[in-house]
Amino acid sequence: SSKWARARGILKEFEEKCATPDGKLKQVADAMTVEMHAGLASEGGSKLKMLISYVDNLPTGDEGGVFYALDLGGTNFRVLRVQLGGKDGGIIHQEFAEASIPPNLMVGTSEALFDYIAAELAKFVAEEGEEFHPPPGRQRELGFTFSFPIMQTSINSGTLIRWTKGFSIDDTVGKDVVAELTKAMQKREIDMRVSALVNDTVGTLAGGRFTNKDVSIAVILGTGTNAAYVERAQAIPKWHGPLPKSGEMVINMEWGNFRSSHLPLTEYDHAMDTDSLNPGEQIFEKICSGMYLGEILRRVLLRMAEEAGIFGEEVPPKLKNSFILRYFLLTIELLVLVQNTLSNAQTTARLCYLPAFCCCSGYQLIKLEYADALITVEKNICRTPEMSAMHHDTSSDLRVVGDKLKDILEISNTSLKTRRLVVELCNIVATRGARLAAAGILGIIKKMGKDTPRECGPEKIVVAMDGGLYEHYTEYSKCLENTLVELLGKEMATSIVFKHANDGSGIGAALLAASNSVYV
Ligand code: ADP
Ligand code: MG
Repeated sequence: SSKWARARGILKEFEEKCATPDGKLKQVADAMTVEMHAGLASEGGSKLKMLISYVDNLPTGDEGGVFYALDLGGTNFRVLRVQLGGKDGGIIHQEFAEASIPPNLMVGTSEALFDYIAAELAKFVAEEGEEFHPPPGRQRELGFTFSFPIMQTSINSGTLIRWTKGFSIDDTVGKDVVAELTKAMQKREIDMRVSALVNDTVGTLAGGRFTNKDVSIAVILGTGTNAAYVERAQAIPKWHGPLPKSGEMVINMEWGNFRSSHLPLTEYDHAMDTDSLNPGEQIFEKICSGMYLGEILRRVLLRMAEEAGIFGEEVPPKLKNSFILRYFLLTIELLVLVQNTLSNAQTTARLCYLPAFCCCSGYQLIKLEYADALITVEKNICRTPEMSAMHHDTSSDLRVVGDKLKDILEISNTSLKTRRLVVELCNIVATRGARLAAAGILGIIKKMGKDTPRECGPEKIVVAMDGGLYEHYTEYSKCLENTLVELLGKEMATSIVFKHANDGSGIGAALLAASNSVYV
């Protein structure tokens, strides 16, 4: 029928706009290398912040003692205790507790967020056995993994540049997050000092290096995306401090904010960006990472529903629920909860989100009871885990796709043809993201001068990988790995190794707390 032809037309056009032939990926990789140089040359020299981590010594494997880590990522928040065995002793014991961050705290006040974190930390410490208690006169030491852009001022201090990944707490920006955490810990009388403040990519690099000395790049693909690598200290013109003994410095790239005219962006990407909490920012992250892939899929499906009626006469109302809706609802909750404590300027800033809220939702939701609205929205959003479940459906009748469409979007009785179309869309969105992430890694390898074989044979390049998207979205991670091998070419193919650094960021932070301990 003509409707079906229209749907195929939308798909074809989307597919073409998302295309990532090798030539394009190489352009993206080169652009990444160029931006890396610019970001290292001067502060503000590039969209890539290329942040100096103050980590000039990665773990050797000889670290010993009990250390703590606190990992604030985006979706979850974890506290860890790691017991290290000293020379060749490896990790003797580790334990962790996990909590999700209550959404209202993501857009509340700095004090409320850090109080919550300190409370979880206090619980964890209170429950531990005597054997882990520090000797008299010695404080517990903590590595704090904080996965947002920080302008580091030392190994254990740094100010927040801006929030990403749906966090929006104005009063933390510009503050030292270690001071904020320390204040909250003191209120709870937790006897602990922050010895290292690290980005999750830097933690993952450290954790990876502990077990494999060839690890020199770390990439996170989770709610957001970012990368870190080991740079020669002399290749960092903006660094005016003393040259580290090791001659090396770990750089946190903040590559999520990369953008280039070579990136294949579609009208759906532009619209999503406009509606996001940080328009114009984190463009690479918005094509590659877990927070956004499901939302891109939803936007294409909505267009197909509206213009080609793929889900029947009417456009399924749930398909109009954007992930952004959740944040607007949270914003309203915040206004209601703390109206009296917010200054006028802050209230105005919050209210700026409302017009967009009205556009993407229609006014009807405002009329609903707030709690009902939030619950409804929470379960009816097309997110990346649902997208990957549909993409991974191997049943002949695509049962999982049918079930997901029914559960999340309340679209029932889909035809096999429609389900196939959905899987094709998942594939287009995931493939573009994975291939671009691979191009980004190629850019780093080029910057490190490791993209061509040495005379003595190719050098091993081990990339420590972590994040929920990489870990669970197999189609995505397979595609990423294959693409990098393909881009590097036959000769180099065997020298690249991907290593899933499970929970690297937490363990890595504990390891960096160990190497920066005040007691050694
Ligand atoms: P964070 O990035 O917040 O530190 P994680 O690394 O655990 O946290 O990543 C969580 C993100 O990974 C989720 O927000 C989601 O986007 C993505 N994710 C989790 N599970 C899956 C899955 N099964 N398939 C695809 N993506 C997933
Ligand atoms: Mg994380």
